[in-house]
Amino acid sequence: MLVEPGRIELREERSPAPPPGGMVVRVRAALTDGTDLKTYRRGHPKMPMPTRFGHEFCGDVIAVADGVESFAPGDAVMCVHTAPCGRCYWCRHEQEELCDDLMPAMLLGAYADSIAVPKRIVERNAFRKPPGVTYAEGAFLEPLACVVHSVATLAPPSDASIAILGNGGFGILHALLLQRAGINAMIFGRRPERIELARSLGLQSIDSSNAPIRDAILERTDGRGADIVIECTGTAELWEAAPSFARRGGTVSFFAGLPAETRVSFLAARLHYDEVRLVAPFHFRPCDVRSAFELIAQQALSVMRLVSHSYPLDQIASAFRELDAGTGLKFLIEP
Ligand SMILES: [Zn+2]
Repeated sequence: MLVEPGRIELREERSPAPPPGGMVVRVRAALTDGTDLKTYRRGHPKMPMPTRFGHEFCGDVIAVADGVESFAPGDAVMCVHTAPCGRCYWCRHEQEELCDDLMPAMLLGAYADSIAVPKRIVERNAFRKPPGVTYAEGAFLEPLACVVHSVATLAPPSDASIAILGNGGFGILHALLLQRAGINAMIFGRRPERIELARSLGLQSIDSSNAPIRDAILERTDGRGADIVIECTGTAELWEAAPSFARRGGTVSFFAGLPAETRVSFLAARLHYDEVRLVAPFHFRPCDVRSAFELIAQQALSVMRLVSHSYPLDQIASAFRELDAGTGLKFLIEP
């Protein structure tokens, strides 16, 4: 339980019962993510503390509600923490990521021995984990679904020049997915260990601590600017700078969000006369989750290279202290 910002407490509770149409999963692997770190630092806007948290996980079914036939106790499963309603305006218009009832019904609490997964997720966004895939790999389903959705929004041609701002977990996942499509994206960041990690994954990893990002991009694109810029840092400074990194007619994608009240400004000329297009893909649709599942099932991406260290659940506070101090990328929590 996150009892207050920066303080995690372990509590003994009765294992949950399966909700109607749902199931209970014994968590075998959970991951930390930037969103979880934000929750740790500030609390979660929708969840009053004390609250359970954690949303990337994989495990074994230990109980199912009456009538659930798609899964049975003993099945290893991968799922995400949301599922769209399937009935609202957005669901009927293939924009399920904007479903009216997506976020209110979000499932948090992956940092636990067990978690109760509601009906809608069981029906729409849960899969049997293939035996050759580890639980830790299975826990990447949710972050990878976000990245699959992001790349699907951009649909880059194979010769696209792409600049990724930020070499955290999401920046690297983007670069790996693009690498698989034959695109050698430029990935920018500052922390030496991340620059090195990206390099060791065969990525075009560029240190932005000394040289301006714009110069590095212009140098690699015959002075034009990138076809596509993907903002993965979630800082207002780089949101505002990103359009200056794109070529005329290029696209800027704001993948990483900013606090809701943030205002950002752009030069009108860049958007109009230079036709720089702005997009901001959010979350994912069930079809993105399925694509992410297939990528993980094929072990198509070296996702485990993003895991800095593994901790048992009773040492989860150490993992968050490290993240808060700026060390590590993603931590694996294994109850
Ligand atoms: Zn809906």
